[in-house]
Amino acid sequence: MGANNMLLCQIFFCVISFITTLAQETPNNSSIGTASVSSDTQLVSASSLACAAIQLDLGSSVVEYSGSEYSATVQGPWSLFNSLDRPTCIVYPRAASHVQVAMSKIFSFGSQYAVQAGAHSAMVGWNSISDGVLISFAHMTNTSYNPLTDTVTVQPGVHWGDAIAAVEPYGVSVIGGRASDIGTGLLLGGGISFISPLYGWSADSIKEVDVVLVTGESVTANATNKFSDLFRALKGGANRFGIATRYELYAAHTGTKEDKDWFGGSIVYPESSSVALSNASARYIREVTDPKAGLIVLMQATNLTPVDANVIIYLFYKGGSLPTNIFGDFLSIPNTSTSLSPLSYYDISNLISGSGRGNGQQFGASSWTGDEATFLNGYNHFMNFTRTFETDLLAADLIISPIPRSQWTANKSRGLNAIGDPGVAYAAINFNLIYPTGVTVIPERVNAGFQLLLSQASSSPGLPLYINECDASQNVFKTYPNFSALQKTYAKYDPSRFNVRHTAGLIGL
Ligand SMILES: Cc1cc2nc3c(=O)[nH]c(=O)nc-3n(C[C@H](O)[C@H](O)[C@H](O)COP(=O)(O)OP(=O)(O)OC[C@H]3O[C@@H](n4cnc5c(N)ncnc54)[C@H](O)[C@@H]3O)c2cc1C
Repeated sequence: MGANNMLLCQIFFCVISFITTLAQETPNNSSIGTASVSSDTQLVSASSLACAAIQLDLGSSVVEYSGSEYSATVQGPWSLFNSLDRPTCIVYPRAASHVQVAMSKIFSFGSQYAVQAGAHSAMVGWNSISDGVLISFAHMTNTSYNPLTDTVTVQPGVHWGDAIAAVEPYGVSVIGGRASDIGTGLLLGGGISFISPLYGWSADSIKEVDVVLVTGESVTANATNKFSDLFRALKGGANRFGIATRYELYAAHTGTKEDKDWFGGSIVYPESSSVALSNASARYIREVTDPKAGLIVLMQATNLTPVDANVIIYLFYKGGSLPTNIFGDFLSIPNTSTSLSPLSYYDISNLISGSGRGNGQQFGASSWTGDEATFLNGYNHFMNFTRTFETDLLAADLIISPIPRSQWTANKSRGLNAIGDPGVAYAAINFNLIYPTGVTVIPERVNAGFQLLLSQASSSPGLPLYINECDASQNVFKTYPNFSALQKTYAKYDPSRFNVRHTAGLIGL
């Protein structure tokens, strides 16, 4: 047994007697204050106490302090910055009841914690932690389709590519991310899919969700039961309102992989086409209302030093060809290569994997209405930023995702989400900075420049920011039209503000 394991065992046994005493003396452990662990235990951290208590209840196969699975989970996050943390222990729940045990102990001992599903967060510390408990859903990855209810039930650890593959033989799908490696954390932020214009925000496909609250209590929330306020808050509230342990999703009838009823693919353009593409994107946002059309525009500054830019777009239409009244601009702008063909939704959902690892990442969000000047202003500031920091960055993207009116109206009858419909078509803008291998913290001067870029390319008035693509500094909740209702819901379900004090995530609640 290594020295570390010996030490952990000593802590473990010293803690067990404390926990046993505590359990006997305080049956209602929710009354234990987060900072009130007795002076006997001053030398033992809250996370060590929580880990030991969880392991006592759930066993060492569920709670790990080291080993190959622990290491793989630690190194799993997409952003290198989040793979440098070392949790006190990792809890691998097999069932919601395990999450309940973990959360109640975390709450009792006032431990810091983090939750990891698909591990794709670009925000530092949102899916990883040092000196805290990490809950990893790596063992809860099932997907099943129920034809009687026409719903797909997914466990939180599944990646969208696997969920879509599991139900494709039934001719149905879920409104997952546009990259197959993304996980279900996407649902809690809202979720933009290639088929969102037709089927709505991914979060709006949730029929019901099981949630473990900060105290460890588990509730089932839907649009009509007594937890309907929580249900709405979870759909855009990200990780602030509890830990989701089961999502029941309305199935989308997209066909099997043989049903090639979409047409599209990708087009790559040289930098010289960027201004024309910026204008075409603004027009598309403003004018295209057909929900059968899908688009994402990635303006990339790759191979910095010096900056070498290009643009890649993915474009689709549910039909036999790309209508020129919708995509004519994009089809006529000079390009370097095209790859267009009939596709099934299954094909579309596997075009981008997004599984690359090894670099620190940073996101930032904006929201623009379809106005050529706004788009060009944002693009020019983005390119100036990349040129200023070309020696500090490996690459950078400006990604344009249309949010047409139909994305809000498609599923309105299924209950509103927390983001709140601003009443106009707009584009969710994501700035993605990719740091060179070996950079382990965001350099202060780059961050200062990035904050300046976010202010120069700021949102058009009245539009919500998209939480899944924001920078940790951005107060996204404040941009939601129903912000004050969201604050009330938060206060109702977490009156001691345990979540905001003990786990990293969006600011401002
Ligand atoms: C390459 C790439 C492509 C992307 N493409 C898209 C896209 O097409 N559409 C889109 O909308 N977004 C997209 N995103 C953004 C993505 O939706 C968010 O990063 C999302 O949060 C990732 O979820 P995850 O489960 O993979 O990540 P994680 O990092 O595991 O989770 C993200 C956040 O949610 C929390 N969380 C996860 N599961 C739970 C749970 N069950 N209960 C409570 N909290 C939980 C985590 O603690 C973390 O704070 C993309 C991101 C990347 C990096």
